[in-house]
Amino acid sequence: MSEIWTIGSLLKWTEGYFNDNGIETARLDAEVLLGHVLGKERIYLYIHFDQPLQQDELAAFKACIKKRVQRMPVAYIVGRKEFMGLDFQVNEYTLVPRPDTEILVEAAIERLKAIKKENGIIADIGTGSGAICLSVLHYLPETRAVTVDISEEALAVAKANAEALEVSNRIEFLQGDMLKPVKDRRFSAILSNPPYIPDADIEALEPEVKVYEPMGALAGGTDGLDFYRQLTGASGELIEDGGFLAMEIGIGQAEDLLSLAEQAGCWQKTEVVKDLAGIERVVVLWK
Ligand code: SAM
Ligand code: GLN
Repeated sequence: MSEIWTIGSLLKWTEGYFNDNGIETARLDAEVLLGHVLGKERIYLYIHFDQPLQQDELAAFKACIKKRVQRMPVAYIVGRKEFMGLDFQVNEYTLVPRPDTEILVEAAIERLKAIKKENGIIADIGTGSGAICLSVLHYLPETRAVTVDISEEALAVAKANAEALEVSNRIEFLQGDMLKPVKDRRFSAILSNPPYIPDADIEALEPEVKVYEPMGALAGGTDGLDFYRQLTGASGELIEDGGFLAMEIGIGQAEDLLSLAEQAGCWQKTEVVKDLAGIERVVVLWK
């Protein structure tokens, strides 16, 4: 990378280089990274294809390219990820919020409205960047939340995101193990995207996930259901009558979840919510 590079020629070159290195979303990644280095939206790149890059911009972009071909997720390189139309800070201590998880947030918002609990209090167990509960608080301006994570580093990120989204006055952060920090509380709803990948599947994950994302955010025990056992078993007592527990699930886990719910014996009604591709993504258990 010497001579004069323009935005257009640099994007083209980087797309090819990423493709050669097995990066699936080569063009998109090149654009997001260059936009990040230049401090511009992607659309800017398209209307300034002929703009030459300065040496310091080139150097910064080169550093990004290097990280990406080592398979570091783009979100960690740029330190942010868009989720539910909002901007979330992320780092190596937080899972990168997934589009799949928007199904959980949308399902929760819809149901909180339906039961007229927009002014209620929710819990988010295993909050990571805070993507789930902070989105709910943003879209439901009267809802309050208690959020739990075992990782102090993740909670620090969630707190920063709460500040940036201006919802800090409606949220409480508790560090601890699953439901333990909230065992004496009552909620309109409990939401969770717990670690759910079965131990045996960890090895086959993409390097972006396996190498860079926190293992404590992914590994769900031998059958992937460890955290669901706790949630379905113990959260019943913490949810008001007429409230619900909504959990994101991995592909093919719905049936297991429904039998865990049945064993718990405290749930009145169950729902499985599919994503746009028809994949079962969320299980809702009603108290
Ligand atoms: N809610 C975020 C999201 O959807 O993007 C993060 C979900 S990530 C799959 C699971 C989160 O649970 C991680 O932030 C991890 O630190 C947290 N976690 C793992 N074990 C936990 C435990 N025993 N108690 C509380 N949180 C835990
Ligand atoms: N959806 C994540 C993945 O497939 C897993 C997140 C989780 O365990 N909750 O990598």
